[in-house]
Amino acid sequence: MYLNDIGRMYIDGKWVMSESGQTRKILNPATEEIIATVTEGSKFDVQKAIVSARRAFDKDGWANSKARDRAELLLKLADLLEQDCKEMSILETLNNGKPLREAEYDIQDAVNQLKYYAGLTTKPHGQTYDVPDDMQSMVVREPIGVVGQIIPWNYPLVMAIQKIAPAIAAGCTVVIKPAEQTPLTLIRFFHLIDQVGFPNGVLNLVLGEGKIVGTELVKSELIDKIAFTGGTETGRSIMKVAADTIKKVGLELGGKSPNIVFADADFETAIDYALFGIFANQGQVCSAGSRLLIEESIYERFVEELVNRAKDIEVGNGMDESTEMGPLISQVQLDRVLNYVQIGLEEGATLLCGGKRMNRKGFFFEPTIFTNTTPSMRIVQEEIFGPVLVIQKFKTEEEALELANGTKYGLAGAVFTNDVAKAHRIIKGLRAGITWINTYHPTFNEAPWGGYKQSGIGRELGTFGLEEYLEVKQINISLSVQPSNWFRKKNRTLQSKLVNK
Ligand code: NAD
Repeated sequence: MYLNDIGRMYIDGKWVMSESGQTRKILNPATEEIIATVTEGSKFDVQKAIVSARRAFDKDGWANSKARDRAELLLKLADLLEQDCKEMSILETLNNGKPLREAEYDIQDAVNQLKYYAGLTTKPHGQTYDVPDDMQSMVVREPIGVVGQIIPWNYPLVMAIQKIAPAIAAGCTVVIKPAEQTPLTLIRFFHLIDQVGFPNGVLNLVLGEGKIVGTELVKSELIDKIAFTGGTETGRSIMKVAADTIKKVGLELGGKSPNIVFADADFETAIDYALFGIFANQGQVCSAGSRLLIEESIYERFVEELVNRAKDIEVGNGMDESTEMGPLISQVQLDRVLNYVQIGLEEGATLLCGGKRMNRKGFFFEPTIFTNTTPSMRIVQEEIFGPVLVIQKFKTEEEALELANGTKYGLAGAVFTNDVAKAHRIIKGLRAGITWINTYHPTFNEAPWGGYKQSGIGRELGTFGLEEYLEVKQINISLSVQPSNWFRKKNRTLQSKLVNK
């Protein structure tokens, strides 16, 4: 069985162990058992991967590959992944801990991403311009080149394919690095890539620590763009390092997203999505509705019902059918969440439920809700990235918006109300890139994903996601081939035209 093999890197079309000779143990967060061992990449491995991606792009012809051929490769990958959906979902649950039904949803989403970008590959993306001179002026889009992609652990495969699919559609070559904790589904996916038969060097997988392997990608002069999903602090340091080589960066970072419930909302729907907004994927979601803003007149009734329902959530091993919420990813993450609970208590917030590690093996944490918060509290301002909801109370629309926009983040936000005009006023006022009315969390591969403020730079998914992997080139073609005579005093017939810009 696959888990018995040592997980390798895929560099220049070959499965390789790291030169470092070191390995890393991979845990199942629900049992704390070691489920796999993978090779631990060094910066030299990354350099080899980058050189092969560079050669594939510059010399072996990938930059000029046919859009239809790339679309077919993506479609073949989609088919293989679809056939592998069940096993891949199980592996995602074993490695990440999320309930199997969520993993299955993720893998199907990844299949759809491959199909979506396969379709987009062959669609027109040029433009022409009407210019004043006797010229034909046009714009073409070309692949940006070699891209480094760095992936977090909360959606290990879907976040990777969200980056791989548009990069291949655009004609780029790729060196990708999963999070240290969750490399298994991406390794398995590279076995499918191997079967499909991409030219050597087009897609490379490197494993290892962010500070070593990730940094090498960001530093390299041979990489044209970095696409990163992860924490805001890591994003900040990546941007600084990337500045040395004026690399393009796409950053999908953290959030502290407001979910605003007005008194006239459908009560049951708002309760349901308040729970889903924060407790799906154990709250380890960048766009989680981690701040719940409730209108004063329904506050008591809403909070009481919410707490009762949160206490009812079945927390357990993601492989059990009855499980509704799985474990956190690691001991480190569990300690981080525990620390924030302590901070909340010290700040004077009221803990209404949860707040503790569960008394069993695995990194299980109780669904947790805080009230009596003030806007300046750290638990209100900072991303906890776990199943911890902080509640805020408001009286007016203006106050709701002020609270909603009152953090450094701007990733997502939602409003629940039956008043259509009010819903739109709130959404218009929200400084966030992903918003919902009367729902929370549904996302679509067709629509752009990304944040305002310190939640990121650029967009993934949809046509916007493809643009991020393309350069824009203007081409100006003279329709009247003759000298300009700019430097010939006696004959300046074309000069006025050239100046007339
Ligand atoms: P992280 O920033 O610690 O790590 C993310 C990735 O970056 C990992 O692969 C890691 O190895 C690598 N990395 C770490 N330090 C690096 C460095 N100095 N240089 C280069 N690479 C480095 O984040 P995480 O803990 O894996 O994920 C959680 C964070 O990701 C949360 O803040 C969450 O909000 C964010 N996230 C954002 C989105 C989004 O779309 N906006 C989606 C998922 C997760």
